[in-house]
Order: sequence, then C-alpha cells, then structure tokens
Amino acid sequence: MPELSSPLNLTVIGSGVIGLSTAHELASHGHRVRVISDQEPLQTVSAVAAAIWFPYHSENSPAADVLLARTLARFEALSLIPETGVDLRFGVDIERSADADRSWTRHVADAQVVEPSAVPAGALSATSGTVPVITMPTYLEWLQNQCRQLGVIFEQRTVSSMAELSADADAVVLAAGLRGGELLGDDQSVYPIRGQVIRLANTVGLRDWLSDDDHPDGVAYIIPRRDDIIVGGTDVANDTRLEVDEQLAQAMLTRAISLVPELADCAVLEHKVGLRPARETIRLERVAGHEVPVIAAYGHGGGGVTLSWGTAERVVELLEH
Ligand SMILES: Cc1cc2nc3c(=O)[nH]c(=O)nc-3n(C[C@H](O)[C@H](O)[C@H](O)COP(=O)(O)OP(=O)(O)OC[C@H]3O[C@@H](n4cnc5c(N)ncnc54)[C@H](O)[C@@H]3O)c2cc1C
Repeated sequence: MPELSSPLNLTVIGSGVIGLSTAHELASHGHRVRVISDQEPLQTVSAVAAAIWFPYHSENSPAADVLLARTLARFEALSLIPETGVDLRFGVDIERSADADRSWTRHVADAQVVEPSAVPAGALSATSGTVPVITMPTYLEWLQNQCRQLGVIFEQRTVSSMAELSADADAVVLAAGLRGGELLGDDQSVYPIRGQVIRLANTVGLRDWLSDDDHPDGVAYIIPRRDDIIVGGTDVANDTRLEVDEQLAQAMLTRAISLVPELADCAVLEHKVGLRPARETIRLERVAGHEVPVIAAYGHGGGGVTLSWGTAERVVELLEH
C-alpha cells in the first residue's frame, strides 16, 4: 500500500465486525485511526453471529452484490491463515418454495442444485456450495490485534453526539449497528431483529453446514465451526428481549435434531441472543450537516459479517474519492 502524503485523523464509532473491518482498511491505507465503542468486540452483536457468509435479512441490490463479492474474496484469502478463525465449508441450503432466492450461488464457484434424491423429505429442492464459516470470537480478537499492529487506538466509552468528536477527527465513520440512526438524529429506520442461538460441543465431528429458512416450524440452521456448532434460529422483528427464551431454545434444538439426528449427542455449551441491526437498505454514504464529515456504515441486518470487507472497502472509496 503506498504511503499517503497526508494521512487523515479518523474516528470509527463501533468495534463490531463493521467497525473493526473498517478501522483495519483505513489504517492499511495509511490513515491514523481511533476506534471508540462502549461494547468491546466480544460483547457486540457481531460476537453472537453464527457466522456464515450468506446474505440473510440484508439488502438485496446490485450495490449489496458488490459488497458480497468483495467480502467473499477477502474471507477466502483469510481462510488460508488458520489463526483467523475463518474456514471454507461445504453445506446445503434447503428450499421450500418455487421462488427460493438463489442469488448467493452466482458468487460461489462450486454452487450447484442438489440431486432430488438427496433433498430432505418435505422440501422442494436444495442448493449446495462451499462458503466461509467464521468462528467469531476467534476472528474478532484476531482482527482487533491486526488493527492494533497497524497503529489503531481503541477507547472504551459512549459517544453521545457527533459534535463531541469534531475537534479531534478529520472525519468520523459511524459503524454503530442498531444505534447508528440515533447518533445521526435523522434516521429512525433501523430496527432490531432478535436472534437466539444455541452453541453445542462439536463432539460428533460435523463439518457441513445446513440452512432451512422456511422450515414449517421456523428458521433452522446448523453451522459447525472449529470446536462448536451454532444451532439457530429465530428472526423476530422489534423483539428486544435479551434474555434467553427456554421454550424457543427447545423448539430450535428439536428442529435441528430432526434435520441432523447426531446433534442429539452434543452437549449444550451456552445460549446466546443478539439484535440484528436491520434497515430496508444498508446506510453506506457520506452524511452532510455535521460539524465533522461523517460516513455512515450501519444497518447490515442479518448479513453484517457477509458484507463486512465490502463495506470497509467502500468506506475508503467514499473517503478518498
Ligand atoms: C443470532 C445471530 C446470527 C447471525 N448470523 C450471521 C451470519 O451467519 N452471517 C452474517 O453475516 N451475519 C450474521 N448475523 C448478523 C451480524 O451479527 C450483524 O449484521 C453484525 O454483527 C452487525 O455488525 P455491526 O458492527 O454493524 O454492529 P455491532 O456488532 O452491534 O457493533 C456495534 C458497535 O457500535 C458500538 N456503539 C453503538 N453506539 C455507540 C455509541 N453511541 N457510543 C459508542 N459506541 C457505540 C457498540 O459498542 C459496538 O461496538 C447474525 C446475528 C445474530 C443476532
């Protein structure tokens, strides 16, 4: 990366996957970067994510497609470095309607329609492919360390207005997830979609992921990671309960075991809840009207990991061009 003749002093609000990826990208381009967040990376919604590269509850548009493709390429490269927590894994997406969204398959080299004989009973069809699966706690720690090595400074505190940052920053990137809109004051369109997952011990050596969004009893996904398996899920809009719903957990586990019976032998390690920062479209643009130039980067819904590196690259473009 060429050295910039005049590096900028930049502040990123947020240390979830969007804030960290953006801070990393900006610092790699030679800027001086400070990240301010009131939740440490492992306390964020990003740490709850399953996390599979798969567009889910996120914007479906040509602009989002660019973010998807760019992020896939970056994760494919990171999967070659074991300590990142990124692995490429084969899996199957079960389809239960004739108009199932197969847009993800055009990005995935080995994607194909599953033989009818291998489609689970009750489903209409299925597609398969190899995509990145990210063990988020490992990945977020690795990414934060990479940021530190690039000189990024981390501060833990709550930002209550954009004006308080104008003295110290040439520009601010707002990667505040669910709270992005409230800091700008002009955007009430971000809303939570509650997600609950179960973490199981992967003592059965499961490797392939399985997703069944339209399961008649509710969303079902099974994502094997390094040592554990994430079983989901729920997707209830405007439900802000952060406590675990035991009944939902039992129903999720029953659904998952009906799809992959060997899960019955896996011990439950923990339950987790997160509120996805949903918005009709991701907000990824320059925002006028503040004392300091602002770039908004929030509203990634159920696809923040899937769109993270593409978002970070776009922030650099918005800043430098
Ligand atoms: C159960 C579940 C499963 C999921 N699975 C997947 C998946 O498989 N693949 C995928 O791509 N996505 C998945 N997601 C979605 C993904 O987790 C989110 O899209 C992503 O984490 C959003 O990242 P973010 O950085 O925008 O927000 P967050 O991770 O919420 O981070 C927000 C940051 O902003 C900071 N902040 C906010 N306001 C302020 C303020 N005023 N002052 C200081 N700091 C502030 C917070 O402290 C935090 O650090 C899942 C989500 C859930 C809940």
